[in-house]
Order: sequence, then C-alpha cells, then structure tokens
Amino acid sequence: MTKDEFYLARGKLGKTQKQLAELLGVSIRTVHSYEQGWRNIPEHTEKYLYFLLINQKARKEEVVPCWERKNCTEKEKCPAWEFDSGHMCWYICGTRCECTKDACKHQKIVICKKCDIFKSLLR
Ligand code: SF4
Ligand code: SF4
Repeated sequence: MTKDEFYLARGKLGKTQKQLAELLGVSIRTVHSYEQGWRNIPEHTEKYLYFLLINQKARKEEVVPCWERKNCTEKEKCPAWEFDSGHMCWYICGTRCECTKDACKHQKIVICKKCDIFKSLLR
C-alpha cells in the first residue's frame, strides 16, 4: 500500500490521524510516518484498513457476494462461501477463484487488488 492509498483510506473512513492510530493500535507518530512515506505500511495494516473500509460500506449498502457477481460454480468448495464472507473473499486464504487458489497470503492480496470485485468493494 502506498502512502497516498493510506491517506485516501483514512479520508474514506472519516478518521483523524489520532482516531486512526487508535483503531490500528499504533501511535499517532506511526500514522504520520505512513502518510509521509517515512515508514513502509505493513501488509497486515493494509488488510486491516480494507477490512474496515469494506465493512463500513457493507453497513451502509447491500453488498452482492462474490459468488453471485462471478456466477461462481466453485462456491460450495470455497471458504468464502462456507463462512458467509462474500464481501471478504479477498481476506480469506484458500478461496477457489482460479487466480487465487494456489496463492500464499502475500500473493493473494496482490492478485485480489487487481480484481474488479475487490475494486468495487472499495468504491
Ligand atoms: S471467492 Fe470463492 S465463492 Fe467467491 S467467487 Fe471466488 S471461488 Fe467463488
Ligand atoms: S480474485 Fe480475490 S477479490 Fe476477486 S473474487 Fe476472487 S478472492 Fe475475491
């Protein structure tokens, strides 16, 4: 995640640096460092921000589950379906999408960030 993506995410969440620091469990100095590009943003922090953003959206509007959007024929074998997480498929490892089924957790988020379903969840 770039510093600009981080800054945009904070804006979408509607949080001050102090509020976001509390949510992330880090110091305000750390949030400031992420936004200035002085520190790399860890993968777990990036995923946590997406988790917050997507759940914020899901609270405001109905989110169509991935299996409906993709007319998925694999859903019954997929943990996203098993755990009723059609808006959190990007977070769960072992999903059965052709592009992610053999990916490790580090590769998976890179692949999912290019997926139209993930992008639409952040819109
Ligand atoms: S994450 Fe699972 S249920 Fe969702 S589209 Fe991919 S294979 Fe289907
Ligand atoms: S590629 Fe990733 S974001 Fe897209 S549907 Fe599959 S698991 Fe979800």
